[in-house]
Amino acid sequence: MRRAWRSASVPGPLAWALALLLYCSAPGAPAAVLALDAAPAGPLGRLSSILVDGTGTLGPQEALALQRAGAFAASRDTVPKFGIGAPPVWLHLAVRNTTDEALERRLMLGMAWVDRLDVYLIHDGAIVRQWTAGDGDPAFAPPHGGMGYVMSHAFPPGDSEILIRAATPDPLVLPLRILSPEAASARTRQHDYGYGLLYGFLLALAGYNAMLYAGLRERSHLDYAFYLGSFVLLSLAYSGHGYTWLWAGQRGLQAYVILALMVLFGIAGLRFADRFLGLALASPRTARAIRAFSASGAAAMALCVALQWQVAAATLAFVFVLLFNILMVGLGVFCVRRGQPAAYYFLAGTLFAMAGAATTTLAVWFALPFSDRWFHAAELGVAIEGTLLALALAYRMRRIQSAHEVAEQLSRTDPLTGLLNRRAFLEQAAAAWSTAQRRARPLSVIVLDLDHFKALNDRYGHLAGDKALEAVATVLQDSCRRGDLAARWGGEEFIVLLPETDSAQAHALAERLLGGIRTVSLSEGGRTMHLSASLGVAERAAHDTLETLIRDADGRMYRAKQAGRAQVCSAPAMG
Ligand code: GH3
Ligand code: MG
Ligand code: MG
Repeated sequence: MRRAWRSASVPGPLAWALALLLYCSAPGAPAAVLALDAAPAGPLGRLSSILVDGTGTLGPQEALALQRAGAFAASRDTVPKFGIGAPPVWLHLAVRNTTDEALERRLMLGMAWVDRLDVYLIHDGAIVRQWTAGDGDPAFAPPHGGMGYVMSHAFPPGDSEILIRAATPDPLVLPLRILSPEAASARTRQHDYGYGLLYGFLLALAGYNAMLYAGLRERSHLDYAFYLGSFVLLSLAYSGHGYTWLWAGQRGLQAYVILALMVLFGIAGLRFADRFLGLALASPRTARAIRAFSASGAAAMALCVALQWQVAAATLAFVFVLLFNILMVGLGVFCVRRGQPAAYYFLAGTLFAMAGAATTTLAVWFALPFSDRWFHAAELGVAIEGTLLALALAYRMRRIQSAHEVAEQLSRTDPLTGLLNRRAFLEQAAAAWSTAQRRARPLSVIVLDLDHFKALNDRYGHLAGDKALEAVATVLQDSCRRGDLAARWGGEEFIVLLPETDSAQAHALAERLLGGIRTVSLSEGGRTMHLSASLGVAERAAHDTLETLIRDADGRMYRAKQAGRAQVCSAPAMG
């Protein structure tokens, strides 16, 4: 919002007359004299009187003469405000030191972006001191980050006057406080803590998300860190901290940095939204439009800076940020309506940020009365938005994680029976195998193949066959202990691994399984299906690998088939 309107046309005499009329028509009670040792802590606008200098040419003596002639009007606001591109403004305040010693006081006035403030201290009708501040020239006293401008003065006993001239093409807001050194330090401290908290919170959130990106390689964390970082930079710039700490005296940079950072902030926000909401998938056209909007904003700002078009740069920055806020809320609504769950957090966050930004803009520009609270609304809005977006990211991470878990689970189980599939069985069985081998513990395997299953399929249909497989799986699950592994080995073949189980115990279990399968009763088309199976049992003995043990059990299952099916074979092959 910097010196955008510096080159805007200087208001003519008509505007000046109008401004005078406006102020002269205010209830013109002469402003009271402020007792310095009993000054209120708040802004003193209502105790001062004001003259808008439409010509922009008045000097201090002329202004003082006009004040004596009653041309100044009492201010109606605690913080006088004149909007963007206003002509210079004179403010007059009469003060009294009722003690008989000089009183040290601090004047705190203006906003950090005001180009030029001239303060004249008048005693016995004569100007005794002049002080110039502002960010319009490196020679002027610089702002105190976040506080506007601060000047110390020892007021002699008796009456003094303070005359201030303020000029800036940016939103002209003139808070004025006169505080004791202690009260001024307390206020400074309060501001410093406030900004420390804000920057600390946002930077910690940004840093943490940058680390999450380093660990997880999930791009939206990085985009989010950039978005928060760009707001911290923007806030540093418009609070004056940047000009005080980072680019002191760099008048050329100061002229464009706020405007350029406004555009950068918008681009970072849209980039985060793009990736977070998965726009490229959800709506490729919207994603392309958003990217084109960001790119043209950046290009236009670069052009304005290169050509030193300040008015155009400022207009661009304000319009861009306005559209950015509307777009963010629009994207949130779009994704909520599409049923994207994390979009609720996103929408709530952007609504807070937009309300905050709008409040601050209106407080420094027009419509809303200026106060500390309204002025800091944008920062509060972004802090709340930052928190909600962090929650949104966490919520989305949780959903991705549980989707992974479900997919992982699915990849390990057989979809028809819910038993382990062959791959998962082999993975888990390998661990049980090596434990048994290391500790020399018994371990057995049962291989089970349904009898004449092809015929069952042919007679009752494939769906009935599926039901039979499910019923067999239920028998297996019901008969196995914890630690046993039952799996679908393929087709109508099943396998059970039994740790801590010798051949006799495994044979007994196999018999129970066979009994269970034979008592399964499923009816299909009014007819009852009968199931039976052949089972082979083998216990780990001189086997080198799990595969050889399974092969043994499989061989015995075939011998059970050969021996007439519907039986268990656990006897080793002869010879
Ligand atoms: P045997 O007693 O010699 O084992 O005879 P069988 O008919 O059971 O043997 P075979 O291996 O020739 O046939 C197995 C049948 O199992 C063939 C196939 O149609 C059926 N089958 C394999 N997987 C499925 C399945 O998922 N669902 C159904 N319904 N049938 C299956
Ligand atoms: Mg079979
Ligand atoms: Mg078979």
